[in-house]
Order: sequence, then C-alpha cells, then structure tokens
Amino acid sequence: MKKVVKFGGSSLASARQFKKVGDIIRADKGRRYVIPSAPGKRNSKDEKVTDMLYACYDAASTGGSYKKILEKIKERYGEIIDGLDLDLNLDHEFDRIEENFVKGIGRDYAASRGEYLNGIVMAKYLGYEFIDAAEVIFFDENGAFESELTNQELSERLEHVERAVIPGFYGSKHDGTIKTFSRGGSDVTGSIVARAIHADLYENWTDVSGFLVTDPRIVEDPEVIETITYKELRELAYMGASVLHEDAIFPVRREGIPINIRNTNKPEDKGTMIVESTCKRPRYTITGIAGKKGFCAINIEKAMMNAEVGFGRKVLQVFEKNGISFEHMPSGIDTMTIMVHQDEFEDHEQSVIAGIHRAVEPDSVELESELALIAVVGRGMKATRGTAGRIFSALAHARINVKMIDQGSSELNIIIGVKNGDFENAIRAIYDIFVMAEL
Ligand code: ASP
Repeated sequence: MKKVVKFGGSSLASARQFKKVGDIIRADKGRRYVIPSAPGKRNSKDEKVTDMLYACYDAASTGGSYKKILEKIKERYGEIIDGLDLDLNLDHEFDRIEENFVKGIGRDYAASRGEYLNGIVMAKYLGYEFIDAAEVIFFDENGAFESELTNQELSERLEHVERAVIPGFYGSKHDGTIKTFSRGGSDVTGSIVARAIHADLYENWTDVSGFLVTDPRIVEDPEVIETITYKELRELAYMGASVLHEDAIFPVRREGIPINIRNTNKPEDKGTMIVESTCKRPRYTITGIAGKKGFCAINIEKAMMNAEVGFGRKVLQVFEKNGISFEHMPSGIDTMTIMVHQDEFEDHEQSVIAGIHRAVEPDSVELESELALIAVVGRGMKATRGTAGRIFSALAHARINVKMIDQGSSELNIIIGVKNGDFENAIRAIYDIFVMAEL
C-alpha cells in the first residue's frame, strides 16, 4: 500500500499535535509521503503562521517594523522543535528568509515559508527525506499550474525515494520564483503527489471527522458522510461546503485514487471516503445539503418568447458583455429567469437591464434580490421516488416559500431558491426530513 498523507495546519500547530501526527504515520507503513501545512491555530484566538508571514513580509518589504512578528514566528517553530526534542536549528533559514523579505522577494515566497520550515521540522522528526516543493511542483510564467510537467518530474524524483516529506501549498516558476496555490492549497499538493506516485489512497488529515451532511453552524452536530463521490463533492463544494480545497480533487480523480478525510484528534474515526463511484448505498437518500446566500433573480417576460429562435443566446450575451457569470437559468413558457451573484451584478444592473431591452425587446424585466440557493445533493436520489416531493412538503411545513426549483439532468442534485431570511430554516427542514427521519 502506498499512501500520501496530508496534515492541515491545526494538526501541526504545536509539538503536541506533531506527536499525534507522528503516531498516525508510524501506525501504518503505507504512509510514505507526507505533505505538511504550516502551523495553524492552537486555539480560536491564535494566529496561523501563514497569516503572520504575510503580515511580516508586508512590513519588512515596505521598510516597516517587522522584528516583533518575526520573533513570534520563530517562537512558533521553537516551541515545536523543543517540544519534540529535535536536534535542529533553523537560525540560518530564518536569516535567509529575513534577508529575502527585506529585499521584497514576493508575497508568495513569504507565505510558502510556513510549509517549507514545517517540512524541514517534520522530515527531521520522522527521519524521512525532505524534498523542497520548489524542485518538483511547477508553474508557468503566468502562474498557471503545470500539471503534466509536474507529474513527470515528481514521479521520476519519487521513484527511488521510499519515504519523503514534501511541503504543501507552493512550487516554483521556471525562473525559480516561488508561487503558491490559493489559500488552503496544501490539499492540492497532496493530490498532485498522490497522482504522481499512483497512490492507493490519499489521506487528508484535518480537525473534523469527515465531510458533514450540512453546515454545523446551521444544524447542530450534523452526521458525517461516510462515502461521497467526486461529483457529489464538487456540487456541494461549489455551493459553499468546505473541507477540502476545490482543486484538490482533479489530480487524484484522473487516476481514480480515493481521498479519505480523517481527524488527527480522533484517528479511530473512519472519516469520509471520496471516491469516483461506488455501489455502496448512501445511508440516507441524500448525501449532503449546502447553500449560499446573496443571489439575485432577473425575471424576463415576453409573450411568445418560446417561438423566438436565439432568444436565450441574446439574453446571455448581455450578461457575458457585462462580465457576469450566471448560476442558473430556469424558464417557463413566456418567462426566463437568470440567477446571478448579487455582488457581481449590482454594479452592472442598469446596463444589463438596458442591454436586455435592446437585445430582445421583452414585455418586462423584473429583479428579485436577497435570494439564497440550496443544493440538495445525492446519488441516491436517482433510484428513489418522491425525493423532490419530500423536500417540498418539508419546506411547506416549515412555512417556507420556494422561489425557484432546478433539477439537474444527472438527477444528482436539486437546487432550490428561497429568500435569504429563510435559508437556515430551509436547510434545517430538509436535514430533518432526510437525516433525522431516516436515522
Ligand atoms: N498554509 C496555507 C494556508 O493557510 C496553505 C494550507 O494550509 O493549505 O492557506
């Protein structure tokens, strides 16, 4: 078994957390390639090292005072090194980092040092080889990730390395400049390494016992999803559910490698398996519920609209010209609705309305704002009759008015539009009818 194991910031925030991680890695010989994040928060009031690095760099590169925050960063690593009793001194690394900060080397370099240093500490602690991600993960001159080149170089490099630590979150451009992925990007590094070594499993260790059926800020203590497909995850992540970086599924998905989300603080929990496909029936008819507030509906009415060839295209072109992407487009006989993100739309609203008038001469264009979209996602819906019926009766019981319904042709999800103010109650009602009732 070859496993890639990625540990998030909270799993590596202190010496105590590092020890848990060490125990986890040593418990399974297959855990051969380790991707660390930078030290995260030790408690809710603490700061992430990545954020401290950004702040330190911003001060140092503009001639401001940065020594205090640099000291704090050094202390974070000092506490870990001392707590683990390691014979390791990062002084010369910090000297070089300080020099580069003052020179104004770049924010990406600054942020990446959190993972870089944590990688050195982790490699020393485990007795694994340290491989600088800058040598194996590549970006082009525009900063786009070069997946194929990286895959080739990385698999050649790791072919003869039994066990290694590769810091997450960054790589380099061809001129040697450091470039990071977007925030949370160590998840992506783990996935890239898993693909390169043809891993049997990519374990992503964090501080929750898997992907939850819905947002714990809305439903208290929601159930954990045991198995979810990449597609379901994509739908839920798109609608705002977050555990894993959005781009992390793409590299492993190409190889059909499953991802297992695990909890460093509760290693006995099985967590969530993210897979290409599965015959396993989900525990409930639905897999998850996610949603977002802040949408606006543009309702267009025109008699005989349906007979007009090119009507939809002309309308969508207006949005395209204004640089607005649309989320959903439910339509009726003589009506068509375009759902957009309100904050993206607000600045352009008058120009869009005028554009629609010019393009298709509608009878009316009306706006409805402050809407929320909720995605009810589940591969189990295909085989089950009455899912939509149950959702709508649950919402009716909760006295929630449904503004829009959109079921994708894959029957993998049903999107429901409600007023922003009904958002939380709607999610609770749907959760109760599927999860509580089916428990
Ligand atoms: N340390 C980086 C961040 O805070 C990357 C990561 O943790 O994945 O975003």
